[in-house]
Amino acid sequence: MTATGQTIYHDRVRRAQAEMARQGVDALAIGVGSDLDYLTGYPSHNSERLTLLIVPKEGEPRIVVPELEAPRLKQAGVPFAPVVWSETEDPANMAADLIWETGARSVASGDHLWASFLIKMQRHLPEVTWNIAGGIMRELRMCKDAPEIALLREASHRTDKAWEDFAQTKIAGLTERQAMERLGDLMRAHGIESMAFGICASGPNSASPHYSTADRVLQEGDAVVFDFGGFYKHYVSDITRTVHIGAPSDEYWKVYDVVLRANEAAFAATRPGVACQEIDRAARKIIADAGYGEYFIHRVGHGLGLDVHEEPYMVEGNTLPLRVGMVFSDEPGIYMPGKFGVRIEDSVVCTETGGEKLNDAPRDLLVMQ
Ligand code: ZN
Ligand code: ZN
Ligand code: ZN
Repeated sequence: MTATGQTIYHDRVRRAQAEMARQGVDALAIGVGSDLDYLTGYPSHNSERLTLLIVPKEGEPRIVVPELEAPRLKQAGVPFAPVVWSETEDPANMAADLIWETGARSVASGDHLWASFLIKMQRHLPEVTWNIAGGIMRELRMCKDAPEIALLREASHRTDKAWEDFAQTKIAGLTERQAMERLGDLMRAHGIESMAFGICASGPNSASPHYSTADRVLQEGDAVVFDFGGFYKHYVSDITRTVHIGAPSDEYWKVYDVVLRANEAAFAATRPGVACQEIDRAARKIIADAGYGEYFIHRVGHGLGLDVHEEPYMVEGNTLPLRVGMVFSDEPGIYMPGKFGVRIEDSVVCTETGGEKLNDAPRDLLVMQ
């Protein structure tokens, strides 16, 4: 890792410490997951062996890691000193002692720290008050800086290219799983390092927004929803395109057009200062006015960055104003039970002057074979 890379993480830790001071928190205890990645660059993985980042009020953070994973930390270029525990030690008690030694009496635990570790530390430190770190990390992570936006743009761009290649192929006769495998291969061919997720929902299955891809065979007359994303240098893409195999019905044409207009309306509403719920409302109005309101059964979008779903959420009731650098999905859908569903999703970044789409794969109705 270069000196510049280290500066990014030192800077993020300093920003976390400033936010901690503002919220009256003495230390952060962050387990495996995207918060740890954000603060250190360490792409950790869930395990029964404790990995824990401790961020004190001031000074350098420390990372408690199992001895056998200390080399991974070095490989990732993490600029903070590890505190290694061996297989016969009790890491939760050891981590709790380290927290106590920083003088911390008010500690915020990362949202994804396993209860098995947290409760043990709580028992070990009965005088400490515990909170959830989400409110601190959210403030740091919601607005992306220029290098983060560049990575998100690159992840989206590579994903678009994979989709454009895929759209040239014949898919009738493949199972949903086979279609998703082909798309995954194309993603990797375009430099996406790993898939984050992939939904291929065909025919009546397309009416289920979070359908899990299975073995149904794609056939003439199907609407097929492809919702997929992958990681590029830690950052994720998330796009949905809905295609039709063979000539679509009049109803499908109509529904597709409504969803496309809803997608455009949410995008057009994007600018700094607008409440997140207004983005949802902009899309929902188009769909409700067309008579399909009851078939749009989810919020219009979610933030994305290191995680596929993160703050801020574009949902009714969220009055948080959009700020420059927020990145979120714009993904209205209409789901007709037993028949078909249509969803069109792009990733959008909020800029000074309005929204900018990170995806530019064609959105017009696509008929495939
Ligand atoms: Zn989703
Ligand atoms: Zn998606
Ligand atoms: Zn999404």
